[in-house]
Amino acid sequence: MTWIQDLAAIVEVQTSPACLELHASDVSGHEPVLPEAVAFPGSAREVAAVLGWANQRGVPVTPWGAGTSVEGNPIPRHGGISLSLQRLDRVKELRLPDRLAVVEAGVKYRALNRQLTGTGWQFAVEIGGDATIGGMIANNAAGPKAVKYGSTRAHLLGLEVALADGRLIRTGGKAWKQSCGYNLTQLFAGSEGTLGVITEATVKLTPVPAVREVVVARFSSVREALACVGAMRGLDAGAIEFLDRSYMGFLEEIAADTLFCEFHTPGHGTVAEAICRAGGASSVERAGENLWGARLRAYTASQEANPGARLLTTDTAVPLGAMAEMVEFLQAELADRGLTGYLLGHAGDGNVHVILPWRNTAEWEAVEEFHRAAVRKSLALGGTASGEHGVGMGKGEFLEPEHGAEAVAVMRSLKELFDPRGILNPGKLTAGNHEPRP
Ligand SMILES: Cc1cc2nc3c(=O)[nH]c(=O)nc-3n(C[C@H](O)[C@H](O)[C@H](O)COP(=O)(O)OP(=O)(O)OC[C@H]3O[C@@H](n4cnc5c(N)ncnc54)[C@H](O)[C@@H]3O)c2cc1C
Repeated sequence: MTWIQDLAAIVEVQTSPACLELHASDVSGHEPVLPEAVAFPGSAREVAAVLGWANQRGVPVTPWGAGTSVEGNPIPRHGGISLSLQRLDRVKELRLPDRLAVVEAGVKYRALNRQLTGTGWQFAVEIGGDATIGGMIANNAAGPKAVKYGSTRAHLLGLEVALADGRLIRTGGKAWKQSCGYNLTQLFAGSEGTLGVITEATVKLTPVPAVREVVVARFSSVREALACVGAMRGLDAGAIEFLDRSYMGFLEEIAADTLFCEFHTPGHGTVAEAICRAGGASSVERAGENLWGARLRAYTASQEANPGARLLTTDTAVPLGAMAEMVEFLQAELADRGLTGYLLGHAGDGNVHVILPWRNTAEWEAVEEFHRAAVRKSLALGGTASGEHGVGMGKGEFLEPEHGAEAVAVMRSLKELFDPRGILNPGKLTAGNHEPRP
């Protein structure tokens, strides 16, 4: 194909079937779509050159971090170029006195934290996938520690971004306080590769807690467990996570509705133990890393328990006081519809996932209907369709019900401004499209 030969003149390109296949799907159950070529730029200037080149020809470009998304976010829905950031993997600066690091977008957050080992500092967002910082910014990833540290967008000081027309811009800076002009940095957080390609990020560093007290408490009902979470407000919680009884049988640590909590101030674990006992917990124990690991293994365990199945993961988040009502609704809907679904949540911040295995069209339709009911309920409670996974290929239809037609029209104007030819991750986010039936 001639355009691929042209492209190869400005950037490293691969078109082997194995490479195209690797960039056709993420870890979600969404239908894979093959790109026509995968580009591997080695610098921000090369990223910008690829975009300028693609913009002139109207070739779609979908950025690719590590492909660990769970909503089809990096799937190149309209083919074209999958733009891998894997060669932009340098930690450029660790400025500990300034509490910041400057990293290229393809640096994985775990690799950054390995480099910080022993310094007393960390990049504080911790998620289950081995993701790149660029992909975490683009999805505004969060995870268990968000209750204390917030989601990825809370850790940004500045970005370097390649725009669709080939310009390379800088946003923000290196100061911890900034109040000079529109906040373009935050505009790119959560934009899922539809407004520009992040090539570099200046991220905040956070002290590693000196103390970690982990408490695991089991309850006979979700309402009891979540009432205890309410009573823990004011404690220095680094994570308050929740797995319901659906995990009984294949995660050996789960024998009931279970809370996993981590505290960073000495003695706060003891206070939490007392709260859980008084709140009706059937068992409360102090745990080390092993028990806490059960929470982190939950997604993989759901897949292993259903070999051959694809997974749909819901991601609703509701105001804190509505979490018990939301979880009870989800449990009742699963039972009424006769569906298998595993519930886990970030109980400290109102974000609950249901992981639903499906194998054929009829099962897909059933889990999709459940997903729609879950989002309707979340919105009725003042919540959102997505707390941390993004819109991707599965949540386009929820954008207008959540934000209203006028607000979505403003989002479309922004997309038009940044990407008038619609080359960046086309068919996503403001396109309002939904995954076609398998
Ligand atoms: C086992 C497991 C556990 C997980 N746990 C969590 C969790 O706790 N919390 C959570 O939030 N997520 C979680 N995830 C989901 C996933 O890890 C995150 O969504 C992550 O942000 C994806 O990053 P990535 O580098 O893999 O990006 P990709 O999946 O490759 O891409 C993500 C999106 O960003 C775009 N993109 C990628 N790089 C750039 C860039 N440089 N510039 C612009 N756009 C870009 C892509 O086009 C795509 O739209 C989990 C995933 C797995 C597999």
